[in-house]
Amino acid sequence: MTASEKEKAKITRLTKRTWCGVPVEIEVSSENWHRVTVAGVPLPHPGLVNFISRWEMPVEARLRLTEQHEFAHLQVLLIPLIHLALMLHIGRRESSSQRWPRVLAGLLANHALWEIASESYVAASSPRDYYIPTSRFGRWLYTSFWGLMLFVVIAGTMAATGLIRFHAEEPFAKSR
Ligand SMILES: [Zn+2]
Repeated sequence: MTASEKEKAKITRLTKRTWCGVPVEIEVSSENWHRVTVAGVPLPHPGLVNFISRWEMPVEARLRLTEQHEFAHLQVLLIPLIHLALMLHIGRRESSSQRWPRVLAGLLANHALWEIASESYVAASSPRDYYIPTSRFGRWLYTSFWGLMLFVVIAGTMAATGLIRFHAEEPFAKSR
């Protein structure tokens, strides 16, 4: 970011409707603070995923892809909802022990999946605009970040549904 860009944060606004007709207004700022208003309800949040994924990008491209990523979250909303329902269905017979670590793992996995789905939507819907960093550090950051997200989806889903268990469960079970 150049000095002049730092002085005045750039903000873009986009008004669109999702595939199911819900009105959305997206406001993204070059200072990585975004506000998505869905059916009149504002959802302000920091743009951590976009900050990492748009590393080194020119500001205009960064804002455009960030805007698309935020909109993609609503377009792909069914994917995390189905994942959540499946986790609840598969994990419903698990005992109540370790409930909170499992809930936390499930929520993290669900959110990571939502991010992957949104970013994939951006890459698929604007392949020409899509940009992967070219510097060594940029590529490393991009690959490790999305690799970590994928790991969180797999490990978190397995932990939440009881396919893998937390170590602490054993000693408690034995002491009974
Ligand atoms: Zn996101």
